[in-house]
Amino acid sequence: MRVKINVAGIVQGVGFRPFVYRIAVRNGLAGYVRNRGDAGVEILLEGKEQRIQSFLRDLKEKKPPLAHVHDVIKTPLTGKNEHADFTIYKSSEETELSGSVIPPDIAICNDCLRELRDPKDPRHDYFFITCTNCGPRFTIIERLPYDRENTTMHEFPMCNFCQKEYTDPLNRRFHAQTVACPACGPKAYLTTNSGEHVQHADPVREAGRLLSEGAILAVKGYGGFHVAASATQDEPLQALRRAKHRRAKPFAIMARSLEAAKGFAEVTSKEEALMASYARPVVLLNKRDDYALSPSVAPGLHNVGVMLPYTGLHYMLFDRVDDVAFVMTSANPPNRPIVKDNDEALRTLGATVDYFLFHNRKIAYRCDDSVLRVHGARPSFIRRSRGYAPAPIMLKEKARRCLVGLGGELNNTACVLSANKAFISQHIGDVENVETRAFLQEATNHLIRLTNSHVDTVACELHPKFTTTRLAQDLAEQNGWQLIQVQHHHAHVAALMMEHAVDELVGITCDGYGYGVDGGAWGGEILFCTRESAGFKRLAHLEPQPLLGGDVATRYPLRIAAGILSKKVNVEPWLLERSERLLHGETEAKLILQQLQKGVGVTSTTSCGRVLDAVSAVLGVCYERTYEGEPAIKLESAAVKGKDALNMKPIIDGNVLDTTQMLHAVFENLGKVSVADLAYSAHAYLARGLASLAAEKALEQGVKAVGFSGGAASNQILAGVMRRTVEAAGLRFLVHEAVPPGDGGVSFGQAVVGGFFRV
Ligand SMILES: [Zn+2]
Ligand SMILES: [Zn+2]
Ligand SMILES: [Zn+2]
Repeated sequence: MRVKINVAGIVQGVGFRPFVYRIAVRNGLAGYVRNRGDAGVEILLEGKEQRIQSFLRDLKEKKPPLAHVHDVIKTPLTGKNEHADFTIYKSSEETELSGSVIPPDIAICNDCLRELRDPKDPRHDYFFITCTNCGPRFTIIERLPYDRENTTMHEFPMCNFCQKEYTDPLNRRFHAQTVACPACGPKAYLTTNSGEHVQHADPVREAGRLLSEGAILAVKGYGGFHVAASATQDEPLQALRRAKHRRAKPFAIMARSLEAAKGFAEVTSKEEALMASYARPVVLLNKRDDYALSPSVAPGLHNVGVMLPYTGLHYMLFDRVDDVAFVMTSANPPNRPIVKDNDEALRTLGATVDYFLFHNRKIAYRCDDSVLRVHGARPSFIRRSRGYAPAPIMLKEKARRCLVGLGGELNNTACVLSANKAFISQHIGDVENVETRAFLQEATNHLIRLTNSHVDTVACELHPKFTTTRLAQDLAEQNGWQLIQVQHHHAHVAALMMEHAVDELVGITCDGYGYGVDGGAWGGEILFCTRESAGFKRLAHLEPQPLLGGDVATRYPLRIAAGILSKKVNVEPWLLERSERLLHGETEAKLILQQLQKGVGVTSTTSCGRVLDAVSAVLGVCYERTYEGEPAIKLESAAVKGKDALNMKPIIDGNVLDTTQMLHAVFENLGKVSVADLAYSAHAYLARGLASLAAEKALEQGVKAVGFSGGAASNQILAGVMRRTVEAAGLRFLVHEAVPPGDGGVSFGQAVVGGFFRV
C-alpha cells in the first residue's frame, strides 16, 4: 500500500522529521519525509496497511512536544512501491515559501533534566544541555534556514560525541542545532561588576550561593540578562530598587520548584499547568495569607509574578542553597530594551550589580519573559514574548494582503500578517526614544525576513506624533507600501473579533489612553465594529473627566480625583490635607484649586484607567504612579477581598456612563465602609455600567456578542462582573486568550483591520 500524508501546523524546526523517520523505521515502512515550507511536512509511506495504521497512531500520540499539528490529510496512491528504505529529504525550497514558522524558545525538557542530573551522563552538570525537544530557537537564529551555521551556535564546532548524536536519526539529538556538551559548547563564567574573572570550578552554583548570601547578580540567559537577587532579604532588593530607580514596580521571581511556589502563593491547577508548560511564562499568583517573601518583591499587591526554571543553568542556581525563589527581573536600563550583549551588560549594569554570570554564546535576538494571569480557567496575556513569540496565531481565513502592524506607544509589539498566520513579535516595550524605535524596526525587519513575508502595507495608530506613526510613514515612503491608520480602540476590538472569528462585535475597551478620532483622550469606550467597514461606531463612553495638567495628572491621581469631586463638593479642605502627596505640596494644591475654579489648563478624558486612578487616590491606596497602571493595579489588589457594599445603580445619561456620582459615593462613605468594599464597589459599578450599556446596544444592533479588550481587561474583577452582566442578558462575552488584551495586542488588531476589514 502507498499513501501520501500532508501534515500542516508547527512541524518545522521542532524535530518533526526525525520523529517521522523514527516511527516509520519502527513500523518497518519505506518512503520519505520532507518539508514543504508553508504547506507543512509531506510524508510518503510504502508498506502493509496495518503498519501504516500503526504509524498514524504513533504520529498522533507520540509527536514531539513542540509540534502543533493543525491538519493531517491522507491521499492513497496507486502504482508500485519505489522505495527500499525510509529517507529524510532535505528540501532547499523550504525557506523560499512565505509564512515560514520559527519556533519560540522552549524550556529544558524532562529527558535533558534527567541527563543533567545523571553523574554517568556526558552532559552531567552541563548548564546548556538541550535536544530537539527543547532549548533556545528564536533567540539564536540569525537567518534561515534553521541550520547550525545560521545560528549563534556556529562558533561552537561539535565534538565527535555530539556530532555522532547529531547525525544519528534514531537519536534524540538528531539535527538538534543547539546540541553541545561541556567539551564543545558554550561556557559559563563569573566576573566582578567591573568584568574581572572570578575563578571558580562551578561558576553557576557559585552564583546561586552569592545570590543566597545577598549579592545582586546579572545572569545571562537565552534572550537577555536578568538581574537576580534573594527574594527573602529586604536589603539587596532595596538596593536594587534604588539603583534601578524602580520604587514599587513588582519584580518577577523564579521559584526553585512548583512545591516551593506553593509555599508562598496559591496555585490553581490551571496556573500550575501554565507554569510547567514548555513556554514557562511568569504567572501572576495570589499571595498566600502566610506569604513570607520580602515585601519589596511586589509591594502593595495581592499577587506576585512567579516562573519556574527554564534552563539547566536556572536549575543549577538553586542546587547549593535553600532559597525557595530568587528575584529574576529583566535587565533593562530605563526606557531601553532588555540588555543582551556582554559588553553592553558591563557598561549598563555594572553599577547595579555585584557580579555577572556570563556565558560566551551570543544572543541573536533579545526576548523578555512572558507574563500571564489566569481568569478562572482562561489564560490572559500581560506580555506575550519568550516561549510564544514568534509562533503564529493561526487564523480561520487568509488575509487579503500581507502587512505589518507597528502598534502604539507603550508595551508595544509588531505584527506581521501573512495569509492565515499572524506573527506577533517579542515584547518591544515603550517606543518613545531612539533605542526602542531601533529595536522595533530591527525586530520588525527580522520578523519579515524570517517569515519570508512580502509586505505591501504598514498599519499604525492615528496619533500624529507617536514614534510608531512616524516610523510607519518612513517605512511606507521607503518601500512604497500603503499606509493604514487605525484608531487605537478599534484595533483592540478588531483583534478580539479575529481571535474569535466573529464578523461584528460590540466591544468595551478600557485602558489608560488612546487617541480618539476627534483627537481627544479616549479610554472607556463602547464601539460597534464590523468587518464590512474600515471604520467603527462609537456607541457610548464614560463621562469625560477633567485631566488637570495633562500628563502630570496621570502621575499624581489626586489631581484627577480633585477634578471629579469638585463637580459635587468643595474639595479645598480635602486636597490641602493631602497636599504633601503632590510633588510640590501646598503650593501645588492651591494652584490646582485655582485652576479648578477658572477651568484653565484642564483637558478631559473618557479613560477608565483614570477613573480607577481617582478611586485609588480617594481611598488612599496610591497617590503616585511610579510604573504604568500602578494606581489601578493596586486598587484591584485592595478590592480582591471586598464585596459590592454600595451596590450603586449605573447612572446612564444618553450614551454616557456617569462616573462623578460613583466617585462621590466612594468619597462620602470613606470611614463608614471598608476600603476593600469601596474599592470593589467602584469596580462593580464601572463593570456593570459598561456591560449593561454594551449589552443594550448589542441587542439594539442585533449583535450576539459583547467583547472586552484594552489593558484594563487584565483586571479580574472588571472582567468577572462584566461577564456575569453580559451573559445574564443572553449574549456571548468574548475576551482575549491568544493575544494580549493590553497594548501588546494593538499591532495585531491594526494588521487585522488592514487585512480583513473592508478598507
Ligand atoms: Zn531536551
Ligand atoms: Zn560536544
Ligand atoms: Zn490600549
